[in-house]
Amino acid sequence: MKDQTLFPLYNKRGLPETPQRLSQKSDDTPQPTHARRIYIETYGCQMNVSDSELMAGILTQNGHQTVTHIDDADVVLVNTCAIRENAETKVINRIKHLNHRKRRQPELIIGICGCMAQHLRDRLLDAAPYVDLVMGPDAYRNLPVALDSLTGGVEAYVSPKDRDPFLGLRLDRTEDYADIAPIRKDGIRAWLTIQRGCDKMCTFCIVPFVRGRERSLPLKLLVADVEKLVDQGFKEVVLLGQTVNSYHDNHSDFGDLLFAVGEVNGLERVRFTSPHPADATERMIDAMASSPTVCKHLHLPLQSGSTAVLERMRRTYTAEEYRTLVAKLRERIPNIALSTDIIVGFSGETDDEFRQTYQMMADIRYDSAFMFKYSEREGTLAHKALPDDVPETVKGQRLKQIIELQERISADINTDAVGDTVAVLVEGESRRDADRYHGKTDGFKTTVFPKANSRIGEVVNVRVDNTTAHTLIGQIV
Ligand code: SF4
Repeated sequence: MKDQTLFPLYNKRGLPETPQRLSQKSDDTPQPTHARRIYIETYGCQMNVSDSELMAGILTQNGHQTVTHIDDADVVLVNTCAIRENAETKVINRIKHLNHRKRRQPELIIGICGCMAQHLRDRLLDAAPYVDLVMGPDAYRNLPVALDSLTGGVEAYVSPKDRDPFLGLRLDRTEDYADIAPIRKDGIRAWLTIQRGCDKMCTFCIVPFVRGRERSLPLKLLVADVEKLVDQGFKEVVLLGQTVNSYHDNHSDFGDLLFAVGEVNGLERVRFTSPHPADATERMIDAMASSPTVCKHLHLPLQSGSTAVLERMRRTYTAEEYRTLVAKLRERIPNIALSTDIIVGFSGETDDEFRQTYQMMADIRYDSAFMFKYSEREGTLAHKALPDDVPETVKGQRLKQIIELQERISADINTDAVGDTVAVLVEGESRRDADRYHGKTDGFKTTVFPKANSRIGEVVNVRVDNTTAHTLIGQIV
């Protein structure tokens, strides 16, 4: 009998709610009026990579086929990112380039999906009138309908010049794609979306406006997914969410999920990204400290080391609270590797406020960091209420200072690892040397070593002989 406490009988689409995803193809697979060959191009974060896998799952379930080379496609879907202005500029240039292709291949359907589609909405069609489809992250279920309506199928053919563009831009508070099986490339590491959307409303961030409110998938379904991924040969699973550790499925929280996934037989490693400092619970730390499968690496976005700036960013923690959290993590998990995100030049950032960020980075000594100049995004709370008033040159100087600092720290931390033996999950051949493999340590450090008799997918012990700021180099022992 179905467990009705975890899974109500039917969801809002009238589909049965079960802890199983639909298979990729079955006898019930609906036949589209005209099967399409679809090339999906992905920009932005891992969440987008995961969404592209989901889109491939939806299209395949509906009888379409994804292709790995654009020349074989009659539909190109560009899955976009809106987090920074230069990400959007890059996509606009790419779409212009696709229009050249469309001139040679007039039947080609060009679709813009993801965060930028949601952010720019129908304005995209003014900038690029040759785009046929604009679809936000909560509307991918409509992809098969969109493709049919654009072409009219075989029987009611619509010529390219008569096509009306298809817009799918409704944000849906409940869409979690729980019944869709994503299609992943084979490999060692699989990304698994456990939560969509964000409720935090940081003032600089566009995500809540393009991905909607937070929703979590049921724990039981996610554990079943991880078991399937292990059966398919994946060794490591990365749990994904916009604020991954605010996960809650009404019964279980993120700590429960980490413990449950950590116990899946045959799984070597579980990671997660990106957590929010304010949602770091004792139970999450317990799971990291005690489950051998949960990696001792935490990407903990700081954004600024100044409490005043954090307030203007609405990050919901102070610099002191962040320091206390790091101290607790290091006490409970002494060998933990930490990485972070930093924004310099946010609205009103003074020299002193910047110095606090610099000092915080110097004190905490992250293993690595993603560092950016603030770039104002239209539609965010900061765009409406806070001036982007730090001069570009000052932003540039500040960014340079923290990059130099972080390079020194990363290099020093790696140099300290010389002589240590680290456990590395072998991922593949080194791009620079066919006699070597590369893989990651538990702390997410890239490590390169001679192949010896090791195999992709196994965990080997490597003695570190040499390092750069970003890589460990060694021998299997
Ligand atoms: S937590 Fe803040 S920065 Fe992260 S996605 Fe949500 S609003 Fe954006």
